[in-house]
Amino acid sequence: MTSTMMRMSQRRVGLLGGTFDPPHIGHLVVAVEARATLNLDEVWLLVAHTPWQKTGRGVTDAEHRLAMARAAVVGLDGLVASDFEFDPPGPTYTVDTLERLVRLRPEVMPTLILGADAAAGVGTWHRSADVAALAEIAVVDRPGCGSTTPATLAVPQLDVSSTGIRARVQTGRPIDVLCPPGVVSLISELGLYDGGDGS
Ligand code: ATP
Ligand code: MG
Repeated sequence: MTSTMMRMSQRRVGLLGGTFDPPHIGHLVVAVEARATLNLDEVWLLVAHTPWQKTGRGVTDAEHRLAMARAAVVGLDGLVASDFEFDPPGPTYTVDTLERLVRLRPEVMPTLILGADAAAGVGTWHRSADVAALAEIAVVDRPGCGSTTPATLAVPQLDVSSTGIRARVQTGRPIDVLCPPGVVSLISELGLYDGGDGS
């Protein structure tokens, strides 16, 4: 392939990594806004197979979180639910994901999209300098997270979290609008977050 053809086929892809337990309107607004403002061809909801930092509670089965992410992006142009971190399964360093992406999908030009809470830890990430060399990084503000990391991308501020949504389900409060209809249905069908087996 010539370098001109390579350039033409390059795809600018935003990576919004997370647990998505469950995906919610906060994730989607960030993804939509990043795609439009940064001129990205796609934004992937990059579902973590085995999240490192969520050891204090039982994380929902990866396949169920992926199914919810797929339901969340239905009808949203350019948004993709990605299982790229499911192979191999297990915990993943961001730098390893980026290196694998560059190797397997050389046409992808990645931009990491981070909420301010996630961005606060970047300096301590495994091989953080390599992460910065492999991808552009965009930081968005997040209400109430107390992070002082400056945002590089303005997004509508929504004080919504998966933690808050799980608590709402547990106490029988509605999550419509906070989660897309397909996600609400899956949570109910799978019996997630209700304190029963699926929680
Ligand atoms: P939990 O409460 O379980 O930690 P969460 O709502 O923080 O869930 P994650 O899957 O942990 O969701 O977040 C994935 C990414 O999305 C992170 O970079 C996070 O900062 C960002 N993010 C999540 N919710 C928002 C929001 N309301 N506004 C801006 N960024 C957000
Ligand atoms: Mg979080």
